[in-house]
Amino acid sequence: MNKLFPIIRYCILALAVLAVIMTGCSSTAQRSVKQAANEPSPSEPATAKQEQPVEIDLEKVKPNELGQVLILEYHEVSDTEGRWSRHYNNFRADLQRLYQAGYRPISIRDFVRNNINIPAGTSPVIFTFDDGTAGQFHYINGPNGPEVDPNCAVGIMQDFHSKHPDWALEATFYIYYPNPFRQPEYIERKLKQIVALGMDIGNHTYSHVNLRKLSTSGAAREMALSVREAQRYAPDAVVDSIALPYGIGPTEESVLRSGEYEGQRYENIAALLVGAEPAPSPVDKKFDPYRLPRVQAIQSELDKWLGYFEKYPEKRYVSDGDHLTVTAPEELMSEVDQNRIGDKRIRTY
Ligand SMILES: [Zn+2]
Repeated sequence: MNKLFPIIRYCILALAVLAVIMTGCSSTAQRSVKQAANEPSPSEPATAKQEQPVEIDLEKVKPNELGQVLILEYHEVSDTEGRWSRHYNNFRADLQRLYQAGYRPISIRDFVRNNINIPAGTSPVIFTFDDGTAGQFHYINGPNGPEVDPNCAVGIMQDFHSKHPDWALEATFYIYYPNPFRQPEYIERKLKQIVALGMDIGNHTYSHVNLRKLSTSGAAREMALSVREAQRYAPDAVVDSIALPYGIGPTEESVLRSGEYEGQRYENIAALLVGAEPAPSPVDKKFDPYRLPRVQAIQSELDKWLGYFEKYPEKRYVSDGDHLTVTAPEELMSEVDQNRIGDKRIRTY
C-alpha cells in the first residue's frame, strides 16, 4: 500500500471508510462483533446477507483472501536482543514496519472464524506472546501508583494504537502459571486489564508441560487448570486457543479440542505451533486450526518473511475490505475449502 500513488491510496481509504459505515463497524462495534463471534452459532442478521459486496477496484487492490497470513510469535521483550528476546526498540520498529507495509492486527479468534475485518488492500497480522515473560506486561511505580511500563510490549502497543487508531489493539498472551508476567502482586490487575483492553489470554497449559508426555486425562487437567486460573483472576476472560508448549501436542488430538477436569471445561478453537512459516488462509483447504504455524518474531525471520511477501505479493493475504465476502483471483478457486465459506459470498476476478 505504501507504494501506491496518493490518489489511489485516497480511493482505498475512502472505500474503507465506506465499508466501515456500511457494516456499522466503529471500534466499539468491532468489540461486539468479536463478542458475537464467541457465541456458539451466531447467524448474520438478515440485512447483512442482502448487502452487496463492497465495491472496490479489484485490479488495483488485488484482494487475495486465499493468501497466507503472518502469525507472529514473541517471547521476551526487553533491553536485550537475542534468540528469545526482542529489544523493545526493535519491537516498536516492528509495529511501524508492519503498519507501513499495510498489515493490520486481528485476533487469532477472528482469524480462525474467518471474521477478518480490515480495510481493503491491507493484510492481517496476528500477535502472539508466549510464556508471560516480565517484559511483555510490566508495571512501574508512577506518581499515582502502578502504571504500564512504556517499554513493555503492552505499553508499546497501547502507545502505537493511540497514535494510529486504524491499528487495532489485538494480541493474545499465552501465559502459564503460577506467576505470569513475573510481578505476582499485579497478576489480577494485569489479566483484567488485558481483557478490558480487548486483548486475549491464551492457554499455554498450567505449568508449561510437554503434552505428549502426559496421559489424556493429564493433558486435559493442564489445559483446564489454565482456563480456571485465568478466569479466577479475570472472570470475563475467554480462553479458547492454545499455544502448544515446545510446539508439541497431546497424542490424542480430541483432547486438544475440548475437555474437562474437576468440572472445569475448556475448548480450544485453535492450536499454535512454534514454527516456522506463514499460515494458510482460513478458507484454504490446507488450513488446519489445530496445526497453525507461526513466524518467530526475531530479526532474521521477520526480514525473511516480510521480504518474501514483498517479493511474492501474490502469496500474501490481501483483504477486500468486506468481511462478508471472500474475494480471490479466479485461478486460486480450486484451493478453497467450501466447508469453511459458511454463508459468505465468493467473488472472483
Ligand atoms: Zn512456552
